[in-house]
Amino acid sequence: MLPAETKPLRIGVFGGTFDPPHVGHLVTAVNVRHALGLDLLILMVANVPWQKVGTRSITPAPDRLAMVQAAVESVSQLIAGDHEIRLGGPSFTADTLAQLADEYPAAELFTVVGDDAAAGIRSWERADEVLERSRMVVVDRPGEPVRLDPDIDWIRVEVPRLDVSSTDLRARWRDGRPLDYLVTEDVLAVIAERGLYRSEGVS
Ligand code: ATP
Ligand code: MG
Repeated sequence: MLPAETKPLRIGVFGGTFDPPHVGHLVTAVNVRHALGLDLLILMVANVPWQKVGTRSITPAPDRLAMVQAAVESVSQLIAGDHEIRLGGPSFTADTLAQLADEYPAAELFTVVGDDAAAGIRSWERADEVLERSRMVVVDRPGEPVRLDPDIDWIRVEVPRLDVSSTDLRARWRDGRPLDYLVTEDVLAVIAERGLYRSEGVS
């Protein structure tokens, strides 16, 4: 816990699998932080991303956390969140926001999503609680515009649209294609050191 006088007041929570974290995530994070004047933006690493389970195998959470830590280490006001990993089990944003509300009782919370994730918000576990506990922030991804629930008071932040996804990056790495500039050098070092994305299992 931080001492009371340095407690952040406006906190963004940008959740993801981050398998791996890439330039699209990082450009979104720094621009949302800047646009909304957030004191802190947490890249929250999902423990078990329940929406992806069964569709592919997921890189172990400690490896994904190490990559996100490596990605944001040198960037002020961006941090990697391990709350969902420490909590264990499937990761639900409603639980994460409740935990952050306990940790930072004075803070205003913002849930940050790309438009593909925004489109599915009503399928989230306890979506109403997410909407009560935080303001929703959405950024566009390349592709067709997504229909957003008009009953939600979205904050839209414009960021450069980067046509990059973790799925594509994993395929590139497996094929031996370079990831330079698509992930940070430090993230690339973690991928190489830990031998991630080599097997067919993680697609
Ligand atoms: P995958 O291909 O494995 O689904 P991903 O690139 O979509 O990976 P996620 O970890 O699923 O990354 O996404 C976490 C959050 O980041 C989501 O809200 C998603 O919409 C957003 N996001 C991912 N890529 C981008 C991008 N290029 N630009 C803006 N937002 C992005
Ligand atoms: Mg995704």
